[in-house]
Amino acid sequence: MRWWGWGREDRRVLLTPELAGLLHNALGLDGALRVPVAFGDVTLGDAVLQPRARQRLEEAVGGAAWVRSDPAARILHSGGKSYVELVHMRAGVPYGAPDAVVFPASHEEVGAVLSICSAERVAVVPFGGGTSIVGGLAPIPGAQHAVISLDLSRLTGVLAVDAASLTISVAAGTRGPALEAALAEHDLTLGHYPDSFEFASIGGCAATRSVGQASSGYGRIDQAIEGVRIATPIGELAAAALPASAAGPALRELIVGSEGVLGVITGLLLRVRTRPARHRYEGVVFDTFAGAADALRIAVQDRATPDVVRLSDELQTSLLLAAGESNGRRAPLGRHGLRSRVGVLVIVGWEGQRDSVERRRLHTMTLLRRGGGTPIGVAAGRAWAASRFATPYVRDELLGRGVLVDQFETASTWTGLEPLRAAVVAALVESLTARGTPPLIGTQISHIYDTGASLTFTVLARALEGQEESQWRAAKEAASAAIVRAGATISHHHGIGRDHADWAAAELGELGVSSLRALKDHLDPVGVMNPGKLIPAT
Ligand SMILES: Cc1cc2nc3c(=O)[nH]c(=O)nc-3n(C[C@H](O)[C@H](O)[C@H](O)COP(=O)(O)OP(=O)(O)OC[C@H]3O[C@@H](n4cnc5c(N)ncnc54)[C@H](O)[C@@H]3O)c2cc1C
Repeated sequence: MRWWGWGREDRRVLLTPELAGLLHNALGLDGALRVPVAFGDVTLGDAVLQPRARQRLEEAVGGAAWVRSDPAARILHSGGKSYVELVHMRAGVPYGAPDAVVFPASHEEVGAVLSICSAERVAVVPFGGGTSIVGGLAPIPGAQHAVISLDLSRLTGVLAVDAASLTISVAAGTRGPALEAALAEHDLTLGHYPDSFEFASIGGCAATRSVGQASSGYGRIDQAIEGVRIATPIGELAAAALPASAAGPALRELIVGSEGVLGVITGLLLRVRTRPARHRYEGVVFDTFAGAADALRIAVQDRATPDVVRLSDELQTSLLLAAGESNGRRAPLGRHGLRSRVGVLVIVGWEGQRDSVERRRLHTMTLLRRGGGTPIGVAAGRAWAASRFATPYVRDELLGRGVLVDQFETASTWTGLEPLRAAVVAALVESLTARGTPPLIGTQISHIYDTGASLTFTVLARALEGQEESQWRAAKEAASAAIVRAGATISHHHGIGRDHADWAAAELGELGVSSLRALKDHLDPVGVMNPGKLIPAT
């Protein structure tokens, strides 16, 4: 993973001249290219882990090689991939860095590390794929004297497959591509493809309740989790892995989404499916976002949900057109009628066995047509599929051109969706325009439910050089306040982390927050687990 941005070192996704021109004009960019500082110029504070704590940790994980404090390890674990974290990183001044990075190789080693850290008063930040965009990986020591990053990259692999029950047991550090490759050998799939799929770990996905691009059909990660094993500072907590149970409240639900503040998820029992024989993705154009949303509502409520749903508003649709395909070829959308009309694009897709794909597609498309949609064929779907993991690479290019670029998401009922969208857009426009940087704001529905849908906002503005953080923070505050006022969720899938912690109280309620805090105090009495995340400060 690039230390100053996203993705594989050997991959870059260049902006098309059309997109670069559009952004240059709309945002008033100066055309200059900004490059990150040299790796050697990144500033790090001294590592303060006490020698006794280090020695005990080395003994617990198999030697000094697995407890690293070299600059490379500390820089690569100094945070996640949010806009502000990348701005700081590119300038060579990360928010902070862990004093050491520890690499356990088993559940038992994780348990030993947590108990040593509690005794030695060292904070622990679990590190899966390192893709958090809400500050979930910020190395905050809290009340402890030092902080380690607990890298789970040695805890990998599919441990067991039950083909008859369609379940698998998997180690938490396993990343998306490795998991799907292992499942392919058994003709199975999890079908969980977040935009961060290339790097996100399955434990990190469970810890943040992530969603994938096909989650409207496959379900969110929480719906795929049958059992979970977690190491806490006071021992192991394993929620029973059964198809159903009436044995009280589901403990599993307390662990999923706990973002490392209670302990470390070391293994999961997941529901999987037979690998699809057929994938079909295609485009449908509507006149308006609200009209398309209504057609999708009718489809989901009539049990005609496609597996993939990506409804882009007018602005996002025009950005998609301008962006072309990620691999440098032009997107074929224009040839299929989209360019010639004002409208919004929905990508819909189905995965499964041949007959069921055709049957389900027919049902959905009938309803979408009836709702005013015009199908534009599979070329649009193929263009989406070819570039489905390219957006994070595009963000790096935008950062290099001095663009403030952020994405955040919420969800609401169908009734509340349009007022929510209008309120958040207005809040962002007001905040950014007040600083002389009027933004472009795109919205997307990417997950639909019987009762409502997610809304993702893409914010683009000219970054105020040297004031990027305060500019972003003001806009983020304004948007979060609008979300909370509208009664929507502060996060549909990126989680709470550090950046949303102060807003979580509005959603959880006072008693909800104090109940969570009581559970944390019980499982983590010294307070070493991921300080400053998820649970609002008192
Ligand atoms: C470009 C980009 C695109 C993204 N797209 C999506 C998307 O489409 N859908 C989506 O849901 N999210 C998305 N995300 C957010 C992020 O990738 C997901 O939240 C993902 O679930 C995080 O997985 P990870 O392994 O990288 O976790 P990390 O970033 O390593 O950790 C996330 C949080 O969970 C904790 N944690 C990690 N592993 C464990 C564990 N085993 N036990 C306990 N706590 C743990 C960490 O301490 C941290 O607080 C995106 C992020 C980026 C940068």
